[in-house]
Amino acid sequence: MCGTDLHLHEGGFFAAFPLTPGHESTGTVREVGAGVTHLVPGRRVAVDNASACGRCPECSRGNHLFCEHFLSLGVNAPGGFAESLLSPAHKVYPADDLPAEVAVLAEPLACAVHGMDVLALRPGADVLVVGAGTTGLLLSQLLLHGGAGRVTVAAPTPFKLELADAYGVDRVVRVTRDAAETARTLAALQPGGFDVTVDVTGAASVVATLPDLTATNGTVFVYGMCDEDARIPLSPYDVFRRQLTVKGRSRRSTAWTARSRCCAPGGCARKGS
Ligand SMILES: [Zn+2]
Ligand SMILES: [Zn+2]
Repeated sequence: MCGTDLHLHEGGFFAAFPLTPGHESTGTVREVGAGVTHLVPGRRVAVDNASACGRCPECSRGNHLFCEHFLSLGVNAPGGFAESLLSPAHKVYPADDLPAEVAVLAEPLACAVHGMDVLALRPGADVLVVGAGTTGLLLSQLLLHGGAGRVTVAAPTPFKLELADAYGVDRVVRVTRDAAETARTLAALQPGGFDVTVDVTGAASVVATLPDLTATNGTVFVYGMCDEDARIPLSPYDVFRRQLTVKGRSRRSTAWTARSRCCAPGGCARKGS
């Protein structure tokens, strides 16, 4: 279960009820349909829960992630919180070499891989990640292995910071759940700001503090999902004068081959929380 499930429970993020949730699924193959040759019953697999129609205007422009008929198991179709799950065969990937507790991270890792694609990190960038849940820890590891010069992770929970430290991030900072106080702590730590500031908390109060923590010509990356009706004050003058970039990340990578290499033993991302 992840934070998205809570948004879905409250009807957000195109949830369709009645719904069996569970968008991060792993298991063993029970049966395969006619013509399926890459899977056999009993094989451990990870499931890519999302499918695009391939025909709508967004799909025809190559924007499959924004398909108008996006099918997402556990979001608008029955998901994996069940004894059995029905999935298109081409969305099911062998994961024989991974224990279940690692294979289940394939979906959140695919989100983080997509985040890296969207961010297009400049080599050597000084990055701040606020939030150290599973997603924050996965993304931090990809940032470390994807060219960041320094990765700082800020979060309130000590054991999550210990994990971040164990995964090799350069600096961990314990902060409170008070966004303004957190911002003061981080500003004092780095008066010139960070090249990239990333919100993984999904708290609009945190996102609101990021522009001031971002260095000139830097990027604010809205990775976590905030409430749909949340709004933040933003100074257009500051964005203009200091040439800031604000990026969002919705959906996730369809590059599950890259994802499985990251999950594999010796790969860059390992179990979060
Ligand atoms: Zn999730
Ligand atoms: Zn489509």
